[in-house]
Amino acid sequence: MDLPNLRWWGWGALDQSYDLSNRPGFWPFMQAHLGVEPGPLAEPVPLDSITLPPPRLASRAELLRGLRKKFGATVVHTGHEARILHAYGKSYKDLVRLRRGEVTHPPDAVVFPESEEVAALIAWAAEHDVALVPFGGGSSVTSGVEPHGVKPTLTIDLSRLNQVVRVDVVSQTVTAQAGMLGPALERAVNARGFSLGHFPESFEFSALGGWIATRSAGQTSVGYGKIEKMVEAVRVVTPVGIVETKLVPASASGPSLLELMVGSEGAFGIITQATLRLHRKPEVSDYRGVMFRRFEDGVAAVRQIAQGGADVVMARLADASETAASLALNRAPHSPLAGKLAEIGMRALRAQGYDLGGKSCLMILGIEGKRAHVAHNLRAAMGICRRHGGFDLGRSVGNAWLRERFALPYLRDIFLGRGLMADAVEAATTWDNLAQLYTALTDALRRAIQASGVQPYVMTHVGHSYPDGASLCSTFLGKQISGREIEQWGAVKRAATEAILATGGTLSHHHGVGADHAAWLEREHGPLGVEALRALKATFDPQGIMNPGILLIRDA
Ligand SMILES: Cc1cc2nc3c(=O)[nH]c(=O)nc-3n(C[C@H](O)[C@H](O)[C@H](O)COP(=O)(O)OP(=O)(O)OC[C@H]3O[C@@H](n4cnc5c(N)ncnc54)[C@H](O)[C@@H]3O)c2cc1C
Repeated sequence: MDLPNLRWWGWGALDQSYDLSNRPGFWPFMQAHLGVEPGPLAEPVPLDSITLPPPRLASRAELLRGLRKKFGATVVHTGHEARILHAYGKSYKDLVRLRRGEVTHPPDAVVFPESEEVAALIAWAAEHDVALVPFGGGSSVTSGVEPHGVKPTLTIDLSRLNQVVRVDVVSQTVTAQAGMLGPALERAVNARGFSLGHFPESFEFSALGGWIATRSAGQTSVGYGKIEKMVEAVRVVTPVGIVETKLVPASASGPSLLELMVGSEGAFGIITQATLRLHRKPEVSDYRGVMFRRFEDGVAAVRQIAQGGADVVMARLADASETAASLALNRAPHSPLAGKLAEIGMRALRAQGYDLGGKSCLMILGIEGKRAHVAHNLRAAMGICRRHGGFDLGRSVGNAWLRERFALPYLRDIFLGRGLMADAVEAATTWDNLAQLYTALTDALRRAIQASGVQPYVMTHVGHSYPDGASLCSTFLGKQISGREIEQWGAVKRAATEAILATGGTLSHHHGVGADHAAWLEREHGPLGVEALRALKATFDPQGIMNPGILLIRDA
């Protein structure tokens, strides 16, 4: 297998990174809030220095030979790079271990099925009691693609299942194979005048099957919904047969089998194909910044917008800490005149009581659709914002956000290289409980980081909003405790999860369960709920070969 242009120890493509060269506020901010200075970035260990445990299948050489014979040598890979590249997802914990060269449970082999070979592969695995880990883009942040079981394990990389099967322009749906990455799928439907409307921050390196398997949410989910709202049908190959749900817009034929598969995280079977609802490509879009004096004012505006006030695709509200951090990431003005204008703008804001870098909170408001629709809803949304003290910063702020909407994950690699812990936790709750969840979560994060002996920086945004509630996503930073990075992170993650559950938030709004949240699943669904999920697992996967340890812990 060729090592592609992938940063195996971090995010994205090797030839891309987060450009800090023209952001004069960044390092002073880091220095003031985290005590981190600019300097050389620590390098990860070289890939070829990593020692892997011998593949467990190697002791059963005839099995591996049989697998190769059945599926072909180009489909079955046991090389060093392939095993490392599929050992982890892309969470902070994963990247810390990769950078150290600590790869203790890689898959024994990686298989790249090209067609309905998936069914034959699962049958082969069931016959030989080999575990399977489905792998889409590998961007899991919940240890969802890390092999956890004791059985020999194959990772099934679905990247060769990458074709559009059909665009139905009458019903406005696309049927595609599950391994298609975001950009390829979006380009294919754009060519027919449509858009998916699904843009998670990991869009460039995550796949259709992974989105469905994790119940993911895109940045414009306020307008287009989470993936579960988009998916109309799936085909899932399980160890005991194929589940193919009907292509219908809605159904009352008992509980929804489709809904059971959305969020199944590879524990029931492998999604090979899915049909998604499409949206007409917007004629125009308007993204802009709106500044609020206080977080509560912005939250009130987001709620009113979500409860029918205006039809927007995004109303992402940063709290004061996240607003200050995003201001620190601003690029230097491109000319002295632009600098002067920015300065005048800042002064005007301050004069009107906006405490930038202190209390004020930035909303990115996005509206898409036909020209008249955008104009009408912009008026409505801005009317609401103004009533809550929102100041229109204009489209340049929104366009700057759009330009960098997929770039921030690259900044995490710089943080790790400068010895910083950097991760995000997310949850959702009803509007009446949002303030309590915000306080409990951010306090828990700060306290847990402080308890590790370092200065915390915690910043949060309201990301996805609904008429009845919203999600919160908190990013947390703090200096790493050298040699104890994973333990330090684990304590912070536990404190945050406990705070979320104690305050009535959901265990995850869009990252899923994986192995990292599995221990808390009973607190979310109750013992009977988890028992029902176990019964489903036993039906679809009686031998427990599908992604052991993911979603349900007792099957590992
Ligand atoms: C920097 C960064 C930003 C992120 N931003 C977002 C965001 O904005 N919104 C969001 O929702 N998530 C986000 N995530 C999390 C992650 O990208 C999502 O969970 C995404 O949906 C995973 O897709 P994937 O194709 O990479 O799946 P993978 O990581 O490959 O797999 C995720 C899980 O699904 C299973 N799986 C994958 N494909 C299949 C299949 N075909 N059949 C059955 N099971 C399968 C895997 O076994 C695993 O358990 C982010 C992650 C990172 C690292």
